[in-house]
Amino acid sequence: MILFDFFKIKHECSHNKVSADVEEAYCPDCGALVQNKWYLVRCGCCNIKRSAHRHYDEIIPDTKFCKNCGSSEYYIQELEKLNFTDVRYAVFKKVIVNNEKQNISTRQIWVEENDTTCNQISEIKTIPVLNK
Ligand SMILES: [Zn+2]
Ligand SMILES: [Zn+2]
Repeated sequence: MILFDFFKIKHECSHNKVSADVEEAYCPDCGALVQNKWYLVRCGCCNIKRSAHRHYDEIIPDTKFCKNCGSSEYYIQELEKLNFTDVRYAVFKKVIVNNEKQNISTRQIWVEENDTTCNQISEIKTIPVLNK
């Protein structure tokens, strides 16, 4: 049933009811914690801002090559907040926040001091703390 699977993927929640003017909110349709984020695409060579768009879940530049230096390399920068100067280039995306804090058990970290000739931390071990 390839057709059915394809249909199912396309039907994933797009969190339309999470409004764009809040930083984050729980989606009333699927229950996920959704964050509104802005991204910039910059040239990996000359660092210039490149106009971009969203293709499904991916952010990709509008053109294959940088019009400033001709490079096809690019990287995506996440914006803390949207600046006026970035409005033309910024791409908006709703991102699901992994609620991992609830699942990770508390860990203790210590450093073994058995190697005094080396200043670098030679070994870091972690152990899960069992909740009794
Ligand atoms: Zn949703
Ligand atoms: Zn460039």
